[in-house]
Amino acid sequence: MSQMESLNQLLDDMDTIRPIVIAAMPDDLELRSTTRRMISALEQIRQSPGIPNDTYIWVSKLFAKFLDAEHGALLRPTHSGTIPAESRAMLELYIEQKKNLLMEAQQDIPATHSILDRSSNLIGTRARKNDSLQKRARHLETLIQEHLKQDAALRSELQQLMDAFSPSFDAIVKVLEDAGEESPELKQAKLLLEQDLPDDIGQAREILQTAREGILKAGNKLTTASAKLHTTLQNNMAQLSNLSQQLEQAESEARNDPLTGLANRRRLAEFLKTLGQASFCFLIVDIDHFKNINDTYGHDVGDEILQEVGTILSDCTRKTDLAARVGGEEFCVVFPETDQTTSTKLAEALRQSIEMKPFRTSAGIVEITVSIGIAEHRPGKEHALAFKAADEALYQSKKNGRNQVTCAQS
Ligand code: GH3
Ligand code: MG
Ligand code: MG
Repeated sequence: MSQMESLNQLLDDMDTIRPIVIAAMPDDLELRSTTRRMISALEQIRQSPGIPNDTYIWVSKLFAKFLDAEHGALLRPTHSGTIPAESRAMLELYIEQKKNLLMEAQQDIPATHSILDRSSNLIGTRARKNDSLQKRARHLETLIQEHLKQDAALRSELQQLMDAFSPSFDAIVKVLEDAGEESPELKQAKLLLEQDLPDDIGQAREILQTAREGILKAGNKLTTASAKLHTTLQNNMAQLSNLSQQLEQAESEARNDPLTGLANRRRLAEFLKTLGQASFCFLIVDIDHFKNINDTYGHDVGDEILQEVGTILSDCTRKTDLAARVGGEEFCVVFPETDQTTSTKLAEALRQSIEMKPFRTSAGIVEITVSIGIAEHRPGKEHALAFKAADEALYQSKKNGRNQVTCAQS
């Protein structure tokens, strides 16, 4: 074929394969334009008067790129020449499975052979047994011996069963009863096992079997019952801890002021009781003009301030002291084993820290002052006296212009 003929042939082929390629990869725009470009290049070459040999080679190479010459398949941009990892794994698995199957089959062959051998031997033995009376008698003798052996084995098995079973019998019955379960089969099994085993091996076996089944049934019931008991127990525990939480909360609510978390009057009374005959100082702290605060900023802001005062009071008291809220905007502090001079200093520090503190509330910064009355409790006197004296001292603080500490005359 001349170069020209070859080129024409190539062009014809190109025309044939182009629609196929495009149909196979309709979305590949680059492929479309490439094939179109190749065809027009070829047409230009064909129209040239003499096509040089190297041009022809170049064109052929171009086509070789486009066509996988070796396999006669179209070269596709996605065709990488290797199997994707996923397909390779599937293929390997498939091959592995086939290999395993083959190996199993190979192993089965000797097993099948041996089964066949054994079967044919047995058939042969039976045939031989049948044909000799003497051998039959010997077989009967073997059977009797076997019976005696089995009987002994059964009896020892029974003994073992009884030994293992007896101690747990009562426990099982108790657990089942606790869970509201009846266990007649267990009782029956015990009765069966306690009686003498009959000589007839068949009957003996049957009794054993019945007893075994009874124990098995009871065992299953036991599993269900213990799961049931476990759940009940867990529920009880949950209820109990819930109750004790509620109790704890109720107790805390009964002895603490819900707004400030400080002790309430009840806890204060209990605390004073624990002090017994010890001496202590008693402070009554009252917020000045608190009504005005409520009226100006609202009750909620008033509450915020009460809470903050509560925090200040608990912060400035020691572990051995007690701060309580005894009225709307009235607090008290007990300083055990503390003389009046020290208590006055503590009270003065408290008054100052409240006076200096900007109370950050939802309505902005609010400033407050407190008036304080102090009294000392001396052993041998009634607590109520100290309370009254402190209240009177507080009244003096208010009367003298508020925002001050007054000590009761002792
Ligand atoms: P004084 O300086 O004389 O103590 O004047 P005061 O306004 O603080 O005293 P008063 O006894 O006239 O008023 C106390 C106010 O405290 C009246 C009441 O509405 C308010 N109060 C009582 N309990 C609460 C409470 O729990 N929250 C709020 N926000 N206010 C309370
Ligand atoms: Mg007040
Ligand atoms: Mg008051």
